[in-house]
Amino acid sequence: MSKEELNPFAIAQSQLDMAAEIMQLDPATHALLRRPMRELHVAIPVRMDDGTVKVFDGFRVQYNDARGPTKGGIRWHPDETIDTVRALAAWMTWKTAVVDIPLGGAKGGVVCDPKRMSEGERERLARGYIRQTYPVLGETRDVPAPDVATGPQIMSWMLDEYETIVGYKAPGVITGKPLAIGGSAGRTEATGLGVVVTIREALKVLGIQPNQTTAAIQGFGNVAQYAAIHYQRMLGGKVLCVSCWDNDDRKAYTYYKEDGIDPVFLQGITDSYGTIIKEAAVGAGYQILDADAWIAMDVDLLIPAAIENVITGASVQRISPQVRLLAEAANGPTTPDADKVLNERGIYVIPDFLCNAGGVTVSYFEQVQNAYNYYWTAEEAHARLDIKMTSAFHGVDQTAKEYKINNRMGAYVVAVRRVAEASKLRGWV
Ligand code: GLU
Repeated sequence: MSKEELNPFAIAQSQLDMAAEIMQLDPATHALLRRPMRELHVAIPVRMDDGTVKVFDGFRVQYNDARGPTKGGIRWHPDETIDTVRALAAWMTWKTAVVDIPLGGAKGGVVCDPKRMSEGERERLARGYIRQTYPVLGETRDVPAPDVATGPQIMSWMLDEYETIVGYKAPGVITGKPLAIGGSAGRTEATGLGVVVTIREALKVLGIQPNQTTAAIQGFGNVAQYAAIHYQRMLGGKVLCVSCWDNDDRKAYTYYKEDGIDPVFLQGITDSYGTIIKEAAVGAGYQILDADAWIAMDVDLLIPAAIENVITGASVQRISPQVRLLAEAANGPTTPDADKVLNERGIYVIPDFLCNAGGVTVSYFEQVQNAYNYYWTAEEAHARLDIKMTSAFHGVDQTAKEYKINNRMGAYVVAVRRVAEASKLRGWV
């Protein structure tokens, strides 16, 4: 067997190629949608606390802006590569299209290990990133947001740097801001909540009682935490374990409790990078298992909510026969080889750019509120989020059934059709 392709951009392109064939997309549109329209590579000099200067590599990829200003988070990760950012920018393009918000897709990245940096170093890196990229950003151009290892504080520094450079207030240039400087109520939990809305709808389609189900989650960052909380609160399901990166030991562990974990308790003993304090968990009766024990757990639902390429041609074999549903809360968690096995086994997949679209949807609401300078309650934001996610979910489910294709391809057909239509109307193809 040939070695499995794990380059995320090659995977994103092969997914598009499959969709293009199903849709019989014309060659010019296919060629346009296969690559980013624009990308920026920057060097960011940062004065470190010890007085030396370190130069970080940064990227901003604007994949396609046919439907509106490009939108997407900024990841800080030691293994960041331009191809990962390209793939994530492509998936943002499909994500904004699948939930039908008037935005394109982009992504940013910096190669760095923020867990090993001081607060001051992180602030200087955040400001340095904006100094190098601000000419391509703007409310009507390209709008960043948080992603892996970047949160509201980093967004605040970035916004402040941008506004200082341009000389006026521009709250809509960045989303995922804290409430005090123009954030949206309900943004923090939006991605996790959106994941649970899609799970609720998928369980309806499958005819499964949500309060009878159990789940295993990979990751315990923002998305995983609120997915766990809302899955229990809204659907009455039970999360048996979460797998979580440990920053001290530099490896992950699975935290397991037979009668279900308490996500709010675990959130209380977790640092801002999603490392659970082991001693506190053990003291509360949690069992600590291997990093990948989550994937082999006898549960009804798997929720990968960390990073890409975790369900591969090899690891897919470990999934329990009990699993009925895979809710891809992370971006790109499943490889095409694993997809084939999931299809054969009839596991219902909620594909990533549909499943985790709640974050960007409330980001869009944040921009709307910034433009009006009038703010909604969290309940209003979440009610509107629910409507968007529910309708996007059924659009994909129906398209998949109509074309007799899997849900990932169903989501591609819906999204690519919309981006292609906008590109055609503009006379690009
Ligand atoms: N980083 C999030 C995502 O991958 C949110 C993007 C945004 O809000 O712009 O969807």
